[in-house]
Amino acid sequence: FETDGVTVINESMDRFKKNTAMIFMGVRITYGEIDAYADRFARMLIKQGFRKGDVVGINLPNIPEYVIAWLGIMRAGCISSGVSPLLSPKELEHQLNDGEIKGLVTLDALFVHRVAPMADRLPHLKLVVGASVAGFLPKIKQILGKLLKKVPSGKLRPLPGKTVMAFSSILKDPEYAAGAFEVELGPNDAAYLMYTGGTTGPSKGAVLTHRNFVSELLLTTHYMEWTGLQVGIMSAFPMFHIAGLMVNAFAIYCGMTQMMLPDPRNVNMIMDFLEKEKPYIFGNVPSIYYMLLAQPRFKTIDHSSLAQCVSAAAPFPVDSQKQLEAVIGQGKLIELYGMTETTGVAVMNPLHGAKRLGAVGLPLPNTDVKIVDTATGEEAPLGEPGEILVRNPMIMQSYFKKPEETRKAVDSEGFMHTGDVGFMDEDGYITLVDRTKDMLIVSGFKVFSKKVEDIMADHPAIEIMALIGAPNPDRPGSELAKAFVTLDAEYAFDGDREALKADIIAFAKEHLAPYEVPKEIEIIEEMPLTSVGKLDKKVLRANVGA
Ligand code: ATP
Ligand code: MG
Repeated sequence: FETDGVTVINESMDRFKKNTAMIFMGVRITYGEIDAYADRFARMLIKQGFRKGDVVGINLPNIPEYVIAWLGIMRAGCISSGVSPLLSPKELEHQLNDGEIKGLVTLDALFVHRVAPMADRLPHLKLVVGASVAGFLPKIKQILGKLLKKVPSGKLRPLPGKTVMAFSSILKDPEYAAGAFEVELGPNDAAYLMYTGGTTGPSKGAVLTHRNFVSELLLTTHYMEWTGLQVGIMSAFPMFHIAGLMVNAFAIYCGMTQMMLPDPRNVNMIMDFLEKEKPYIFGNVPSIYYMLLAQPRFKTIDHSSLAQCVSAAAPFPVDSQKQLEAVIGQGKLIELYGMTETTGVAVMNPLHGAKRLGAVGLPLPNTDVKIVDTATGEEAPLGEPGEILVRNPMIMQSYFKKPEETRKAVDSEGFMHTGDVGFMDEDGYITLVDRTKDMLIVSGFKVFSKKVEDIMADHPAIEIMALIGAPNPDRPGSELAKAFVTLDAEYAFDGDREALKADIIAFAKEHLAPYEVPKEIEIIEEMPLTSVGKLDKKVLRANVGA
C-alpha cells in the first residue's frame, strides 16, 4: 500500500465523526471529539519543536489519553512508542534511553514516583506530559476525586532542562485550538517503535513503518469482515503493546466503539461491559480468559450478542478453549498468531469454514509461511515441526539500532525468523509447538513444554502448568523438567500436597513419553505474568537458578 497511516486513519475519523469512539468510566466520547483533541496534541508537539522522526513514548494504561496521544504523535509525523506503566524503574530507564525518547506522556503519579527521580539520567528526554486519567472530562473528574484519595497521586513540577506540562492544558489552551499543519509522510517512514513483550529476555524495539501499519490495518479488518460493522469492541490487550495498538486502529478504521479497560485484570469491569454494553468483539490474552472462567458470574451472563472472542499472544490449551466456548457459545473463539515484528496478526483461523481447534490457523492474505528445520535451515516436510518463518508487507523494518539482531531475524529473502516452532498440515493450517527458547533438552531428547502443558491441563486439579528446564544436579549440563502448577478453582483440594503431586506424576506417566514426565512438581498460588499478561517463565527459571 503506497499510502501512510495518517491519511487512512483521518479519512475514517472523518467518516465516523458522530459515532461513539469509546466508553470510559461510563462516559461516551465521540470520534469528532477525539479527532479535535488529537489535532491539539499534534500542534503542541510541533510548537515544542518536534519534527518528523522524533520518538514520543506513551507510558499510560488504556485510557482515552492513550488514543489521543498516539493519533497526535502520528499526525505530527513523529514515531510513537509504547512504554508499559508496569516497568520497573530500571527497565523504564533502559527503554527511554534505548528508544531515544524525546517526549514522554505519562501519568502524574508515574511522573512523581518514576520519571522525575531519573530525569537527569534521560539525556534524550526534552518534554514530559502528565495525565491525571481523563481528568479533562468534568464528569470523570468527579468520579476520580473520590478514587484519587486512595491512589497515590502526584503533582507535576518543573524539571531542569525539560519542559513539563499537563495533558489537560493541551486540550484546553486556546494556543493549540487552531492552525493548519502539514507533514509529508510516505509508506517507508517509521510510524511506531514498538517494544516486544519481553517474554524471553529484554524487550527489543521494532521499527514499524507506515506501510507495515496500513497493511496490517487493511488486511486484518477485511479478513475479519469488520469493515462497515460499527459495533462495540472490547480489548484487554494493553495499548502499549502491538496487539492493543492495532485493536485501537481497527476500531477507528471501522467506526467501532471501544470499551476502555484501564486495568485489564479487573474482571468485574469486563463483566459489567459484557452485561451492559454487549460488545460484539472481545480480544484478549489467555490469562484473562482463565480469570474470567474462574468467576461464577461470567457463566451467568447472556453472551448471545458477543460474536467473536479473539485470543492471541500466548498459548491457549485446547481444554481451556473448550471451556470458554461452552460459556460464550460454540464457534465464537478465534485464535490468531503474530508478533510485534509482524505488526500483530500474521496467521489466523478463518472466519468461515473449518476452524481447527489447537491450530492458530492459516496465513493472512499476502503472507508466506515456511517451516524450516532448526538445525539445517532446510524446509521441513508437512507435519514436521520446525521454526516458523513469515514474509509479508507487515514485517518490521528493523530492530532499532540493532543491525546484527535485525540481520539474524529478517533474512535476505525477507522472511522473519519468529523463534517459534510449529508445523503445517496438508491444508496449510499452522499449529504452534513451542518457542525455541522454551524447548527443553532432557537426556538428549527434545521436550516441547507447550505439548506437556496442554496434555497435563486435562488433569482435574490443574488450572495452569508451566514447564521449565531446571539444572540437573546429577548430570551437569543437562536439564530436568520441572513443573509449576496452579490449582483449578473447582477442584476440591484436601490439602495433601504430596499425594496430589504423586497423582499428577502418575497422570503424566500415563499420557507422556518417559523423558517428558516432570521430575519435580511445585504447587504455587499464582502464575507470574509479564506486563502484557503472558506467563513469565523468566521468573520461574530465576527461582530454580536456571
Ligand atoms: P520477546 O520477543 O521480547 O521475548 P514476545 O515474543 O512475547 O517477547 P511479542 O511480540 O509480544 O513478544 O509476542 C510474540 C510471540 O507471542 C510469538 O512469537 C509467539 O511466541 C507468541 N504468540 C503469539 N500468538 C500466539 C498464540 N496464538 N499462541 C501461542 N503463542 C502465541
Ligand atoms: Mg518475540
